[in-house]
Amino acid sequence: MNKTHGPAFKKAVIELDRCPACRGMAVIKGVFHEMACVQCNASGWVVAATGEALPVDELVTQLSLRLQAAQRQIEQLNKPALMGPAAQYQQNNRRGAGGTNYTGD
Ligand SMILES: [Zn+2]
Repeated sequence: MNKTHGPAFKKAVIELDRCPACRGMAVIKGVFHEMACVQCNASGWVVAATGEALPVDELVTQLSLRLQAAQRQIEQLNKPALMGPAAQYQQNNRRGAGGTNYTGD
């Protein structure tokens, strides 16, 4: 394993895992109030490989990269719904199947 110190030319995505101490919630429920989880720098995430918290400055970048990826996914998931009648038809169809009862006659 190569340990690279100093400035990196390109930000690498570090594999993150849910913090086991707070179970990804970033806070731990105390008796009276919630406390910031120290094990993950109150982020809810730890480095998957080591199980340790990232330094805050690195953490911000990693969370940003993760959020960007998540947003791209959300946009892709939302795309079909914005594509007009076909998507709307599917939605209506799902909702209407068995739900609408017209006894007009
Ligand atoms: Zn935690």
